[in-house]
Amino acid sequence: MSESFSVKKYLRDLKLPFCPGCGAFTVMNAFLRAVHELGYENLEKFVFCSGIGCSSWIPSPYFLADSIHTLHGRSIPVATGVKLMRPDLNVVVFGGDGDIVGIGLSHFIHAARRNLDVLVIMINNMVYGMTGGQVAPTTPFKVKTTTTPYGSFEYPLDAVKLAVVAGANYAARWTTAHPTELKEAIKKALKLKGFRFIEAVSQCPTAFGRRVGFKTAAEMIKWFKENSITLEESGGLSEEDLTTKIVVGDFVHRDRPTLIETIYAVIKEAQESE
Ligand code: SF4
Repeated sequence: MSESFSVKKYLRDLKLPFCPGCGAFTVMNAFLRAVHELGYENLEKFVFCSGIGCSSWIPSPYFLADSIHTLHGRSIPVATGVKLMRPDLNVVVFGGDGDIVGIGLSHFIHAARRNLDVLVIMINNMVYGMTGGQVAPTTPFKVKTTTTPYGSFEYPLDAVKLAVVAGANYAARWTTAHPTELKEAIKKALKLKGFRFIEAVSQCPTAFGRRVGFKTAAEMIKWFKENSITLEESGGLSEEDLTTKIVVGDFVHRDRPTLIETIYAVIKEAQESE
């Protein structure tokens, strides 16, 4: 690290769009700190893709970098095209739970299956924040939202476990109450290849927190801290006990060949056999 960290070095001079207390600030900070600590003086070697939702504003247009702000749920297919054309660049997707595992779910699964060489950072605020707080695929069971005033009757989707089963090279979950661990996971992921997925459980005080009884963003962060357990600690707990816990840590770290490596291996083999 040549100089002290400042987010300003990596940001355009624009007013950020997030509500006071939003977890998006923490995730943005963690990402830029990770980039800084890895020695990147700027974001020239990165391309960012994002879809629709509050979290998708993290990179675009605020990062001083090339970014593509695309359709709802379509950031991963756009990132696929970018990576295939420019395998030399770090392609990073930012998105919310609705964008990545709601409307974009099949793209997420197939990118993990193919081991596409991108890093996906999903900010999970457990609700559709930007559109007013509707129930999302990640909303906890029985929790009230604007569209489930008596509580959600659906079980939430565990995106990290899905990434593991689908074939990701790396998958981790942390919360905004763990900024250092989150930053370290991002640093680790940026140094790896293949499909890398990080879920950052995050507070949305505007459309979620106040509806479920949290008076401030700080209360939510405290709740995250007190209710998080490591993967190792979760081993002995029943499924019922786990419904009120956030399991954090590295869920998988493996070294499958990436989509780019597989494609070029197939091309080489085909050329040699002609
Ligand atoms: S609505 Fe929620 S997620 Fe969106 S910026 Fe405000 S606090 Fe953040």
